[in-house]
Amino acid sequence: MSGMTDDQLSEEARREPLIPIGQPARKRRELWRRKLLWIGVWLVFLSSPVHDLVSGDHTTGGTVAGWLGLTVFVVLYLSLLFRDMGATPYHPRLIGSLIGSMAVLATALSLTLGSAWLGLYCYVSVACGMVLPLRVAFWTIPATGATLLLVGLRTDEEEALNLLLLVLLIGFAMTGVSQLVRTTIELRQARATVAQLAANEERLRLARDLHDLLGHSLSLITLKSELAGRMLPEHPDKAAQQVADIEQVSRQALVDVREAVTGYRRPRLAPELAGARVALTAAGITAAIPAEPDLDGVPEESEAALAWALREAITNVVRHSAADRCTVDLVRRQTLDGPVLELSVDDDGTGGSGKGPGNGLNGLTERLDKAGGTLEAGRDKRGFRLTARVPAGSTPDVGSRS
Ligand code: ADP
Ligand code: CA
Repeated sequence: MSGMTDDQLSEEARREPLIPIGQPARKRRELWRRKLLWIGVWLVFLSSPVHDLVSGDHTTGGTVAGWLGLTVFVVLYLSLLFRDMGATPYHPRLIGSLIGSMAVLATALSLTLGSAWLGLYCYVSVACGMVLPLRVAFWTIPATGATLLLVGLRTDEEEALNLLLLVLLIGFAMTGVSQLVRTTIELRQARATVAQLAANEERLRLARDLHDLLGHSLSLITLKSELAGRMLPEHPDKAAQQVADIEQVSRQALVDVREAVTGYRRPRLAPELAGARVALTAAGITAAIPAEPDLDGVPEESEAALAWALREAITNVVRHSAADRCTVDLVRRQTLDGPVLELSVDDDGTGGSGKGPGNGLNGLTERLDKAGGTLEAGRDKRGFRLTARVPAGSTPDVGSRS
């Protein structure tokens, strides 16, 4: 997994949606079949009570009462387990009284109709294991076994002893199954949450990219259009040059937006510095900008983050500062956290309204945060100053030396 790039990962995610859509009907049928299997398999223990009723050893009144009791018992059992596996389980207090009723029925039927009915305690134990929380099941299952033994003393000790192990075993086995079912449900919910988070993150990224890209390009286009308009009467040739620039900027903006939408965009510093010079000059601001940046050993992620910072800073200078001069600096510094690359954009303008960061600066802080960097921006002695720092190269590994 670690060898995969982000692009490969998102490609995988696109091919295989985390939440399969469009097959709920089949899923539901499958689920019901599994539920029926899990719950129905235990109904085999009904054979001896049914046999006892059919064999006609009891009075008519006893037989009728037996059928009635058995039906109520099975209905209680099935409704408890089906509801527990469904989306809306019963209230805990209702669960308690339903299981209590099952135990009372099992006891009454065994005491009145004989040892053939002791098998009903298996259902009580399964219900305890499946439906009750683990810590409650841990004492209710042995309690069920103890009740079985006590009732066995009055009916058939041997049969009760035979059943005891079974009651304890399937009870505890069912706590395992129930745990498994619960974990699976939680896992499914967690997956849905992860998909949701990934979608949110992607939406944020797109919003940031579009804000920064379009803010910059549209400011430049506005500036150049104004220039062209002013030049048109006297210098149509210069105006034509501006119009050509406008065409180029809007073409580039189109490419950038496409890249942002597909998620492939990673701006580089060198073209961004060149772009800054063009934008500042067009706005009539004197620009002092370093030529070729020295990016030896600087991770691509750091470079991209600084390039975004530069773009937004220049857009802000053009839009908000009303400055005459703007200085861009790019220096390496050695800090306690290792080497950093520091970009600063300084102007001598108004310094802004002081209302604090908006979309642009907030998005920038997020970007730099992701690259392990920091952002400072605000009024300076004169004008506005923005400083962005990112890690430049591998941090010296302190731990490996000991
Ligand atoms: P937006 O550009 O969308 O208003 P930003 O977060 O980029 O939001 O900037 C927040 C505010 O900071 C701006 O509205 C502006 O008042 C101020 N600001 C930013 N950069 C400068 C600058 N270079 N000169 C003057 N004010 C600035
Ligand atoms: Ca801005």
